[in-house]
Amino acid sequence: MTMLDIERLRGDFPVLDQVKVNGRDLVYLDNAASSQMPRQVIDRIARYQSLEHANIHRGVHHLSDAATTAYESARSSVRRFINAAEDREVIFTSGTTDAINLVAHGWGRACVGEGDEIILSEVEHHANIVPWQMLCEEKGARIRVIPVDDRGELDLVAYASLFNERTRLVGIAHVSNALGTVNPVREMIATAHAHGVPVLVDGAQAVAHEVVDVQALDCDFYAFSGHKLYGPTGIGILYGRAALLERMRPFKGGGDMILSVSFEKTTYNIIPHKFEAGTPPIMPAVGLGAAVEYLSGLGLAKVAAWEQSLLAYGTERLSAIQGVRIIGTARHKAAVISFNIADVHPHDVGSLLNDEGIAVRTGHHCAQPVMKRYGVPATVRASFAFYNTRAEVDTLAGAVDKIRRLFE
Ligand code: PLP
Repeated sequence: MTMLDIERLRGDFPVLDQVKVNGRDLVYLDNAASSQMPRQVIDRIARYQSLEHANIHRGVHHLSDAATTAYESARSSVRRFINAAEDREVIFTSGTTDAINLVAHGWGRACVGEGDEIILSEVEHHANIVPWQMLCEEKGARIRVIPVDDRGELDLVAYASLFNERTRLVGIAHVSNALGTVNPVREMIATAHAHGVPVLVDGAQAVAHEVVDVQALDCDFYAFSGHKLYGPTGIGILYGRAALLERMRPFKGGGDMILSVSFEKTTYNIIPHKFEAGTPPIMPAVGLGAAVEYLSGLGLAKVAAWEQSLLAYGTERLSAIQGVRIIGTARHKAAVISFNIADVHPHDVGSLLNDEGIAVRTGHHCAQPVMKRYGVPATVRASFAFYNTRAEVDTLAGAVDKIRRLFE
């Protein structure tokens, strides 16, 4: 496998060399929150918006046709990217949160009843906790939690013991945004299926960093966001198995999701349109299509290999600094390093790093239960993309060491 030419690829991202922070080169290590868009995506969006834009599906004129083609070809690009069997299994949403809410309402409200149980893990993002909690409150159901160990790995024995005849769904993150752990979702899905239970995978932190094949995973639902995938905000995907989507109720009602409407009765459109009420985010969808084509062109295996080398190097550099505690040391991790420096407040670390031009995220990362598990209110999180370099890791390690000495 040839390596990626990182220096050349960095040239695709205007922000990386045009933005200076406090007079320094930007070191962008907040990719788990939102990654940057390459010129190819920005140009595609500009071309769509300049020359191809109109409302989709219902028009008979040239531009409506062009916009529909752009939107539907973005769906096909996403289908190929995650290896879904059919385009109609790919639903455009506004993001991961929206996708999970769609399942909680469209599937959960029909299939979860009083006394039923939903299994989630302790490392979930709030987006994969709160919608289920709201559903459980409404239905009188309850959440069972897969515990995580000190390294950040899920306890699979405990997981297997949580199933019973009341289990209705498993919801698990493919990759933990707070710890970086890559959960063994394929194995966990097989366990759930052995009990006849469907699985929703929150893939927000996975799709940009490793090959995701929804058929090989055999998952029932897979959710992710465009803005963590080198695409724009306002767009995301819910992949769903066709048979499940067909049985599911729509979540939002309105135009485009119907076949016929009368005051007596409405019949719904076929999937995926049944779940895309109203004018969708056409331009962001086109941008997402361009983003997955861009990433596929690089090759996810090469992206993963480079990011893994950055993770190994970053872990080595940071753990060598006195007082640094890395939270999340699972054997299989994505390129996310959550850490604290002795007793220094993570927000102070974040703003001191910003002084050096380094962008990281600090806080609870919308994963308060996992913060509680490790007894910390917050962490500093450096999250890497394929456009990051070893020199940027050195800059981060140098700045962390400087901060550590300031507070000695
Ligand atoms: N799930 C995980 C694991 C995440 O990391 C995030 C975002 O940080 C989300 C869900 C929510 O994504 P969005 O805000 O794009 O809906």
